[in-house]
Amino acid sequence: MFDLVIIGAGPTGGTLALACASLGLRVALVDARDPKASPPRDTRNFAIVRGSWNLLVFSGLEEALRPHAEPLNGLEAIDGARHWLGAPSACFTGFDLPETAEDATLGVMLEAEHLQAAIDAALAASDQIQHHAPARFDSYEHAPGHVIVHLEDETELPTRLLVGCDGLHSPVRQAAGIPTEGRNYGKSVFAADVQLSRPHDGIARQLFTPEGPFATLPLSGNRANLAWYMKTGAAEALAERPVEEITAELNARFAAFAGDMRIDGPVRAYPLILQVAASMISERVALVGDAARRINPLAGQGLNLGFKDVAALAEVCADQIRAGLDPGDVLALERYQSWRRPDGLATALGMDLIDRVFSNDNAILKPLRGLALAVANRATPLRSALARQASAAQDHLPSLMQDPGS
Ligand SMILES: Cc1cc2nc3c(=O)[nH]c(=O)nc-3n(C[C@H](O)[C@H](O)[C@H](O)COP(=O)(O)OP(=O)(O)OC[C@H]3O[C@@H](n4cnc5c(N)ncnc54)[C@H](O)[C@@H]3O)c2cc1C
Repeated sequence: MFDLVIIGAGPTGGTLALACASLGLRVALVDARDPKASPPRDTRNFAIVRGSWNLLVFSGLEEALRPHAEPLNGLEAIDGARHWLGAPSACFTGFDLPETAEDATLGVMLEAEHLQAAIDAALAASDQIQHHAPARFDSYEHAPGHVIVHLEDETELPTRLLVGCDGLHSPVRQAAGIPTEGRNYGKSVFAADVQLSRPHDGIARQLFTPEGPFATLPLSGNRANLAWYMKTGAAEALAERPVEEITAELNARFAAFAGDMRIDGPVRAYPLILQVAASMISERVALVGDAARRINPLAGQGLNLGFKDVAALAEVCADQIRAGLDPGDVLALERYQSWRRPDGLATALGMDLIDRVFSNDNAILKPLRGLALAVANRATPLRSALARQASAAQDHLPSLMQDPGS
């Protein structure tokens, strides 16, 4: 009998398995992807805030990730509502260094492929986790005091708790009959790495335009990851064009903001969706990460929220086991849900509001933009959201995310 069967070995599922195994829980992990096959190209980069980094360190990933982690020293945002007509309409810069340590950064930038490769290697090296991959979750059924998880290859895994870390379309969420709400933004993010001509100094820079934000996120070797919001269709069409044409279009629009840029590596477009599950739990089932909510990535919060789910659920389950109790118990799951759902919901709706206010030229919303910028003199959306998440001393932060010794 397992304590947890986790479906999905992406960033949240892989980390949850590693953290729970370190805490002495009996874990099985199932993923549809073949870990030996080369993973699909992923041009995303993650701004990993300090609490999330602490979780990755606890999960045994520091050594593999450290060489790829670029410090994120600060954030700078510009309201560029009229940037193509002239100077930006408002501009301010600033830094939100965490209050607890003078030499600490907001966090680090990690390339998605490096993060997944480090997780895959740690899972392959672990003899505490029963890893089924490639294998697909099919269904589950209730039995006294546990559930039996059925894989498509007819493997049966009895467990106290089934955890869906299986992403946006979560088959576990669907099997549990948990509905979702949300909207399609009709926009996509064009994401690619570029070589910069100006030093980035570890600063993430974001320009708000009526189409949506354009951001350069610092990477090693004076490179940056671009997050360029466009209408769905336009981003996908741009990604199909020859790299010289993409570079020309990019520089024609944004060289004044970011200096000359040269595309460095593959390009991809990611559609934007807001989707929130009506509940993060069902009987002996918990949802984590994108299975629980997919949010607008404009402030780089999605995975950081998912990592908070991971750390909270690991802590709840470990507390149950330590007390000789059942990790799939309804009270334990309610503790998990009441810990994580308000934060996830507030962030999802907050990012949605920022998108509505800043990503358009609507005359009614213009005064609100000005007000938001005035009020936000110390707190632009990306900056304040990341700074809030970056503080490893937040209230209710799971212990696996807190600074060592705090
Ligand atoms: C352009 C873009 C930029 C982003 N930038 C940031 C950022 O800077 N910071 C940040 O915090 N977040 C960011 N995010 C959000 C982040 O990418 C997601 O929140 C995160 O990848 C979700 O991870 P996950 O492990 O929950 O799900 P996923 O990565 O989707 O993993 C799901 C896993 O489940 C497996 N699976 C699915 N179905 C089955 C099945 N039936 N059986 C077995 N396995 C199955 C899949 O193989 C996969 O491995 C960004 C998102 C986008 C689109």
